[in-house]
Amino acid sequence: MTQETHQKVQAAHLKRNAYLYIRQSTLRQVFENSESTKRQYALRQRAIALGWPEDRIVVIDSDLGQSGASAADREGFQRLVTEVSLGRAGIVLGLEVSRLARNSTDWNRLLEICALTDALILDEDGVYDPAHFNDRLLLGLKGTMSEAELHVLRARLQGGILNKARRGELVIRPPVGLIYNSEGGLVLDPDKQVQQSFRLLFETFRRMGSAMATVKAFRNQGLLFPRRVHAGPHKGDLVWGALGHSQVLHILHNPRYAGAFVYGRSHTRKTVDGRFTVVQVPQDQWETLILGAHAGYLSWKDYEQNQRRLHESAQAIGADRRMSPAREGPALLQGLILCGRCGERMTVRYHSYHGRVWPEYMCQREGIEHAKPLCQRIPGAGIDQAIGELLVEAVSPVALDVALTVQQELQARLEEADRLRQKQVERAQYEADLARRRYMRVDPDHRLVADSLEAEWNSKLRMLTETQQERERQHEQDRKVLSDEQQAAILSLAANFPRLWRDPNTPDRERKRMIRLLLEDVTLVRAEKITMHIRFKGGAAKTLTVPIPLNAWQQRATNPDVVREIDRLLAHHTYPQIASILNGRGMRSGEGKTFTARIVARIQRQYGLTPRYDRLRKAGMLTLEEMATVLGICQQQVKIWNRHGLIRGHAYNDKNDCLYEHPGDNPPRKAQGVKLSQRRRLGGVVAQRTEEVQCEA
Ligand SMILES: [Zn+2]
Repeated sequence: MTQETHQKVQAAHLKRNAYLYIRQSTLRQVFENSESTKRQYALRQRAIALGWPEDRIVVIDSDLGQSGASAADREGFQRLVTEVSLGRAGIVLGLEVSRLARNSTDWNRLLEICALTDALILDEDGVYDPAHFNDRLLLGLKGTMSEAELHVLRARLQGGILNKARRGELVIRPPVGLIYNSEGGLVLDPDKQVQQSFRLLFETFRRMGSAMATVKAFRNQGLLFPRRVHAGPHKGDLVWGALGHSQVLHILHNPRYAGAFVYGRSHTRKTVDGRFTVVQVPQDQWETLILGAHAGYLSWKDYEQNQRRLHESAQAIGADRRMSPAREGPALLQGLILCGRCGERMTVRYHSYHGRVWPEYMCQREGIEHAKPLCQRIPGAGIDQAIGELLVEAVSPVALDVALTVQQELQARLEEADRLRQKQVERAQYEADLARRRYMRVDPDHRLVADSLEAEWNSKLRMLTETQQERERQHEQDRKVLSDEQQAAILSLAANFPRLWRDPNTPDRERKRMIRLLLEDVTLVRAEKITMHIRFKGGAAKTLTVPIPLNAWQQRATNPDVVREIDRLLAHHTYPQIASILNGRGMRSGEGKTFTARIVARIQRQYGLTPRYDRLRKAGMLTLEEMATVLGICQQQVKIWNRHGLIRGHAYNDKNDCLYEHPGDNPPRKAQGVKLSQRRRLGGVVAQRTEEVQCEA
């Protein structure tokens, strides 16, 4: 360590903490490259040698095992930046400091903050003061070199990979079902069960034409499907489990099962927050595609055919509506509903009925993945209405309340700041007074002293004016911000919301956007009633229950009293009679129509009421044939006798087909020569019968 570096460390630096940042890119490096970790910890001794007490050296090693490619995931690095920017750091220690951040932007930002807060940087080569131009230049260069090194390394690696991939010789982890043999060729998995499972999958899809149906077929037959474990202690093992929908799609979309070598089906992109996303690339942009490169389960033609079918069914079903932005459809809660049973996000289905579109919320993700029944489905109309009413009724007071709370809080904070500024003014006043008194007390002959004291008094007075003006200005600004912009915006939201909501010209999409501004999510549970747990943005919560709306047939169902009455009347009357009786009493069917024989018959069938025929039979009545046998006459004669009241028949339908009461011990007999009309009508049958018997005896 040179004399110069010692000079950079000042007392002011030593008063603050020293931060030792330790990082190894991957967990493997943490284990295998322990030498480097030791060197990193040894830097501690350097800090002690420079004069930092041991207890002021803070070790930040929470990033061990994290890659340095971006600062986003590295909590330790972020903490370091925070500590430095708060001015708590006197020095930052790191092995090859530029590797603190593998990204030049992160590094330069840290350098700037170090320069601003007067923090030093120490690595194995020496101490740097980022506030000095030369040091900063050097440090910046180190960062650039470090990034360049990474770039060159990666480019070489990538180039090698690409070259191999173009020749189809790159060894890529094969998907389950394919395996490298001892000669390095890719072959079908020699495990017969695995092979058969794959053949069955492709065959089932060829027959059914849908991934969903394939999952269902496997499930119905209780068949398991192989999967390879890619991580953990069982890495490389084959496990058998239920076939999943996404698994089928993966397999069907994977060209390797058709014996093709592919490279570059997806690209990895870095997002703004430093994370990575994988983007699928269309087939004509794949880096390498070599057909017939190795063994496969299906031909390339079959593979392409499968892609077409999957594409078609994907278009038929429509894109997934999960976490989607507000769309045109009328389902207000689309994308905001969680299932209260399983916690999945629910999707929307629309039904068209009588020219109107009715939304229905369904939880079906699990159902699709494992071909199981739907978790729950809930008609949407009642829910949307309840939410709308809740918002209209609750939003204005809620919004006002929130607005007022926020306003009060802002006000409180502003007043606090204002009090602080007031203190500054008082202090400036005090100092100015002090300077004035000093000046007054001095002997005027003491020219030099008097001049300097006068200058000091002047400067204090200037400072006092500045402080006062600053306070005045801030105060004015605070008042303006609150009164003009915020207040108006908040109040107008509260005032306009109900009007805007109810306006029929407001498109559904706009209503949905409003909901999204106000609500976090809604959890639905369907039991005897529908329970809705509503979470507002900002944490407030509310629970509502709405009755389950009747479905179409329930809405058209007949009043239970009417059904009971029909049941009672069936014992004595036919359908047309019942219809006219009910109409006479002013009753109406479930659809609000007057009763007809057909409607009564339908209700009898629908509600499982005992038919009139069965009732009469049960009461011991005889059929036409039986009656003819009992009386010893032809069937036509039975009908005639019935018409003339010699026997008692009861119609069981509207064609006047009858069942007959048993004639008893003395049935009527044929009486030649006596006019039927003279053999008295019903009511006197028994008496007449006796007479006749007497006549003939
Ligand atoms: Zn569910």
